[in-house]
Amino acid sequence: MLVKVLAKSSFSSFVGALGDYGDLYAPVKTSEKVHSFKEIESLTDIDLSYTRTMIPPKKFFIHPEEVIFEFNIDEELYIEPPGGDERIVLFGVHSCDINALNLLAKVFTEELPDKYYLERKERSFIVGVSCVPDEYCFCHSTGTSYAQEGFELFLHDIGDSYFVRVGSLKGHEFIATHPSLFEAAEQSHYDSFKDAERKMYASFTNELEMAGLQDLLDMAYESEVWTEYGDKCLGCGSCNLVCPRCRCYDVEDHINLDLNTGERVRKWYSCMLSEHGLVAGGHNFRPTARERIRNRFNCKGSLREDMPNCVGCGRCTVFCPAEIDYVEVMKKVRGDLK
Ligand code: SF4
Ligand code: SF4
Repeated sequence: MLVKVLAKSSFSSFVGALGDYGDLYAPVKTSEKVHSFKEIESLTDIDLSYTRTMIPPKKFFIHPEEVIFEFNIDEELYIEPPGGDERIVLFGVHSCDINALNLLAKVFTEELPDKYYLERKERSFIVGVSCVPDEYCFCHSTGTSYAQEGFELFLHDIGDSYFVRVGSLKGHEFIATHPSLFEAAEQSHYDSFKDAERKMYASFTNELEMAGLQDLLDMAYESEVWTEYGDKCLGCGSCNLVCPRCRCYDVEDHINLDLNTGERVRKWYSCMLSEHGLVAGGHNFRPTARERIRNRFNCKGSLREDMPNCVGCGRCTVFCPAEIDYVEVMKKVRGDLK
C-alpha cells in the first residue's frame, strides 16, 4: 500500500483539491448531540472531532426513499429514472462506516447487482479519517476499527501531519496529480502512525466478546432477555435507520388515479416495526416486540463472510429513545450480566 504524509498546514489546499472529484460532504455539527454528513461550503463547517453521525454514510448510496421505475400498465411500459451525474466526495468517514459500506457493496453488487448503488459508488470519492472512541464505540471488538479497503485515501492523525494510506486507483491518481501536497513517509512517520493506532486501540472502554456469539444467540432463543428488552422497546425502528449495516428496504407501488400509471418506490425499512412481519392474508410472523428484538439481535450477531452484521459504531445505543444498550443486551445473552 502506498503511503504519504500530508502536513496539516496543507489541509485547506488538500480539501480544495478534493473539489475536483465532486461536491464535498463532511461531518458537520447540526445540534448539541448530532453530527451529520452535509455538503460543505466553508472549511470551518467541517468537524473532524466528531464521534459518529446520526445517519451513516449509506444514505449516499442507498437513498432513504427513491423511485426505481415508473410504469404504464396499458402500454406495458416501465421507465427507469435517468441515472444522476452528481459526483461526491465523502470526507471524514470513520473505519467502522467504511467497513459497513464494504458489506453493503457485497449485498448490492454480488448476487443481483443494483445499478443505482453501482452508479453512485462509481461517482464517489471516499476519504477516511482516524477517530477517538467514546464510551459507546466497540468497533475493536467487531474487528472494524481499521479499514483495509473501501476508500480512496485514509488520513491518520499523527500530530502535525496526517499519515495517508492510498486505497484505490482514484486515490493514486489524486496523489499523482497533486504531488506538491504530499511528502514521502519516513521512518518517524511510520513510528508515529503505529503509536497513534496503539493509543486508539488502548482507549476503548466498551467491549464485547464476539467469539461464539452467533451460537449463543441461537441457544438463547427462549431467553427472558427478549421479554425484558421487548417490554422496554417502543418499536420506533430508529435502531435500524441509524445502523450502517442495516439494509432492509420496502417496495411500494404508488398507483395514480387513472389506475394505469404510477411508480415503484424503494425505501428504508425496519424489522422493528410491527408491520414488518405482516404477510398476505393478515398473518404476522413476528407479532410481538419480544420476537422482533430477538430477530434483530440474531441478525446483528450472525456472521456474513466471517464478519458480524454489526460494526460496533454504537449508534443504535446512542439514539435509542428507550435507552436499550446493544452491548448490554449481548452481554446478557452471553451470560456476562444478569
Ligand atoms: S431504537 Fe430502541 S425503542 Fe426504537 S425500535 Fe430500536 S430498540 Fe426499540
Ligand atoms: S447494530 Fe448498532 S452498534 Fe452495530 S453497527 Fe448497527 S448501529 Fe452500530
